Amino acid sequence: MKRRALLAAMPLLAAMPMRVLASAPEIWDRQYDVVVLGSGGAGLAAALSAAARGLTVAVFEKNARIGGDTLNSSGFFNAAGLSGTKDKPIDHAREMIELGEGLNDPELVRIFTENCPGTFKWLQSLGMQFEDKPYKIYGTKEFRSYRPNRPRGTGYIHALGEASLKAGVSIELGCTAVDIYHVPETRQVLGVLIEKDGRSFSVRARRGIVLATGGFGANAEMLRRYAPELSALQHDSTPGATGDGHRLAERAGADLVNMQFVEIVPGGPVSIPYVIRLDIYPDRMVMVNARGERFVDERSDRKTLGEAILAQPGGIAYTITDNETVSSSDILDQKYLHQARHAGVVVRARNWAELAEKLSVPRHALERTLARACAGRTGQTSEGPCRRIVRRAPFWAQKIELHIHVTLGGVRINSKAQVLDKNGVPISGLYAAGEIVGNLHGAVRLGGNGVSSAVVFGRIAGENI
Ligand SMILES: Cc1cc2nc3c(=O)[nH]c(=O)nc-3n(C[C@H](O)[C@H](O)[C@H](O)COP(=O)(O)OP(=O)(O)OC[C@H]3O[C@@H](n4cnc5c(N)ncnc54)[C@H](O)[C@@H]3O)c2cc1C
Repeated sequence: MKRRALLAAMPLLAAMPMRVLASAPEIWDRQYDVVVLGSGGAGLAAALSAAARGLTVAVFEKNARIGGDTLNSSGFFNAAGLSGTKDKPIDHAREMIELGEGLNDPELVRIFTENCPGTFKWLQSLGMQFEDKPYKIYGTKEFRSYRPNRPRGTGYIHALGEASLKAGVSIELGCTAVDIYHVPETRQVLGVLIEKDGRSFSVRARRGIVLATGGFGANAEMLRRYAPELSALQHDSTPGATGDGHRLAERAGADLVNMQFVEIVPGGPVSIPYVIRLDIYPDRMVMVNARGERFVDERSDRKTLGEAILAQPGGIAYTITDNETVSSSDILDQKYLHQARHAGVVVRARNWAELAEKLSVPRHALERTLARACAGRTGQTSEGPCRRIVRRAPFWAQKIELHIHVTLGGVRINSKAQVLDKNGVPISGLYAAGEIVGNLHGAVRLGGNGVSSAVVFGRIAGENI
């Protein structure tokens, strides 16, 4: 067995500071019907759906603010089959299975894709607003990614958070779940131990717990264990993405799958504390290397793009787009791009020659590449489709720094969002939703499936617990 496979096979808890499994307290400090861990899209959707059934619900969030990566996200939500689009859930599902290399659970994919349109409408019923027309964001073949009217992921947290509070959900910040109480013989989950400000308290979850703790992109130790070749990269995850839920679930007997699949995306340098992206719309940008040459079809999935970038001389590559693309971006993204320009991280140029100079790439090569990239009106070049967009000045460009973005591995769940053990049997009282789920995306995630899967399965967990 290779070292990596061996490490991956070792239980995660071996790498974590070990706590003695807590035996259930005689008297619980708090009691609720449902306890949700994490306050991103998955956690809030679960809490709201459970509260709508008349259950008492508490959300515990370890960060000092709600939202997790859902709040940080660009906010794109995939839904096929909404009126006016030819695209259907079955097309969405087919694309996921193809990209996932068959490592996703087809039944879960079916449930997810069929629930996306209804969940989209549910969000609208909570007051969330989206732009009318869907986008084709990178990694996707169809126009099925809807952008919220509010900047980035703020709309989800606003709509779900407000509705949850109105429904009587208790949301407590700065509360870290550190252990799960369960009956060792039956594995039935009873409650959770929460730490806040150096003190701990036990919380009984009469119907169960929903793990909605997100991914592990911010956990260097887990990245070294599961994706050592990527562990030196920076990440753009929320600080809370430390895989706590993975650890708690494994301790409760859950099966972790696809842990080696970690998504990388182009981004800016670590020196700036915000996310900059010129590459979200594949039809509207060109990628070139340090020689000024195009090297990939920009419409490719994230894995293909990431690998192609890493394979360039010195791993150096640039994204080039035009002003129209920048000015039609999300308002916060525009702000960040302008800030980055002033910080010298993103460049703007009046023509291709100036762009070459600012990027320090060979001028003639870049001019040749861009002329070729926009040759013809609609035709193909050998590297991919034409890019008429790079004809219109001013041009914007950024040097690509790859980031760890989303982790794809985690617990195996069934169609009711119940967490399964290694034999495929549901662990009584344990549910999961969102990025912690490992059997939905498979090897590669379709852009726009992160937020949608968090809300879809959060809702399913809340309806079934
Ligand atoms: C920069 C960026 C942009 C993205 N853009 C998109 C996009 O446009 N569309 C898309 O579909 N996907 C996007 N994604 C991916 C998507 O945001 C996530 O996959 C999804 O939002 C995860 O939702 P979640 O509810 O599972 O987790 P999160 O929203 O991350 O919430 C998990 C919460 O759990 C908390 N937590 C963790 N451990 C504990 C603990 N022990 N106790 C209590 N709380 C805990 C965390 O602090 C966090 O607040 C993006 C990701 C990033 C990083």
